[in-house]
Amino acid sequence: MYDIIVVGGGIIGGSAVYHLFEKGYAGKVLVLERNNALAQESTSLCAGGMRNIWSTEVNMKMTIYSIEHFKNFRENFGISIGFEQNGYLFTYYEKNWQDIVDFKPVWDKAGVNVELIPPEDIKNIVPNFRPDLKHLGKDILKTVSVSPIVGGLFGKDCAIFNATTPAQTYFDFSKDKYPGRIDIELNKEVEKIILDEGKVKGIVLRGGKEIFADKVLLTAGAWSRQILDNSDVPDDLSIPVVPIKRVLYVVLPPLNGDKYNKIPLTVIDDGVYFRPEGDNLVVGRADPEQLPGFSTEPRRSYYEDFMNLYMQIRIKGAEYCRIQNMWGGLYAINTADHNALIGEHPDFDNLFLCTGFSGHGAMEAPAAGLSIAEIIECGKVETLPEVQSLNIRRIRDKKLIEETIVI
Ligand SMILES: Cc1cc2nc3c(=O)[nH]c(=O)nc-3n(C[C@H](O)[C@H](O)[C@H](O)COP(=O)(O)OP(=O)(O)OC[C@H]3O[C@@H](n4cnc5c(N)ncnc54)[C@H](O)[C@@H]3O)c2cc1C
Repeated sequence: MYDIIVVGGGIIGGSAVYHLFEKGYAGKVLVLERNNALAQESTSLCAGGMRNIWSTEVNMKMTIYSIEHFKNFRENFGISIGFEQNGYLFTYYEKNWQDIVDFKPVWDKAGVNVELIPPEDIKNIVPNFRPDLKHLGKDILKTVSVSPIVGGLFGKDCAIFNATTPAQTYFDFSKDKYPGRIDIELNKEVEKIILDEGKVKGIVLRGGKEIFADKVLLTAGAWSRQILDNSDVPDDLSIPVVPIKRVLYVVLPPLNGDKYNKIPLTVIDDGVYFRPEGDNLVVGRADPEQLPGFSTEPRRSYYEDFMNLYMQIRIKGAEYCRIQNMWGGLYAINTADHNALIGEHPDFDNLFLCTGFSGHGAMEAPAAGLSIAEIIECGKVETLPEVQSLNIRRIRDKKLIEETIVI
């Protein structure tokens, strides 16, 4: 018998397990992971960006907390997670710039360290950056809709990191520090959660084996909704979380004699972003046309014919940023407000959820794991009380926490 079954062994499951034990949880934990290794899905496929620049207070608080946690990870866990604090740089056209200027006091008040950068200074942060369009011929300007960059928003505390390492470390650390209290079973796919008269009873594995437990914590990322559907949770009691493909490209650096290995994660026209990957760059963009589904097939042409064009416009020599590698993974998008769902299900006792991170789960994992652990152990969020607002009931009560700065 187990006290709690955790479904899904990514960074969210790992952080939840680690924080549960650190909070003094006395029960026995079973982690069930469908793959033959932990953290092989979205966690290891992500861009590893972490920022505290958000439109909602809850995301600012969660990421300020998480940045500190990851900054100190090596000291606390004895292992490097590739944490590089080179910042985030968002660039803006005239039409949006005033909103950023007006919002700066909110970031200042929340303790988000941001600077507004004039366009001519951006090249001091990203070499050879071209904010204006003077270098472009009329033919190009006819084919692509771009405007001059009038300002940059630079978040110095933001960083990049390798999300797989903390995910695996949370599990390893918990096994070592709390021997006999945690079993991790790989190649175990949960088919459904057993829900009886509004209560959790356990889970059923693919193949039919039942495992009983007092509580279930669902941390299955983009597959969470599918598991609830299999468990006969009706649509109106379920969660608005869909899988959506996101693709990353590793490309050569611009060929102009400058190095790009210390630049911030930089967001340019139409949401195209890039960040260093050794001497290369990782480039991404959340395609707004992408339909929900479990396919993760990457397309070369999306980068070559579309994203790279914006890079060429902004950085001299970016036509040489040719693809070295590419892959697709899944965002778990909460279509209601693009924020996580963290808490106990309002209709099923002892069914806890921590999912729907909408592309910002790796960076929020420390705060999310801590908060769900407090909900399970203490009945409410204690350290970061704002996280209480991400409860599941908000969807049907229409108390949405809309996040607008999503990439
Ligand atoms: C291309 C891309 C770029 C991204 N960039 C960033 C970024 O820069 N910063 C950021 O913070 N986030 C980013 N994300 C999002 C981030 O990866 C996720 O929010 C985060 O990894 C979520 O962690 P998770 O543990 O919930 O999900 P996952 O890592 O997907 O873990 C869920 C686990 O559940 C398991 N599972 C699923 N179904 C079952 C089942 N039936 N039974 C048992 N186990 C099951 C899966 O195998 C998986 O291991 C990105 C994602 C993608 C795809």
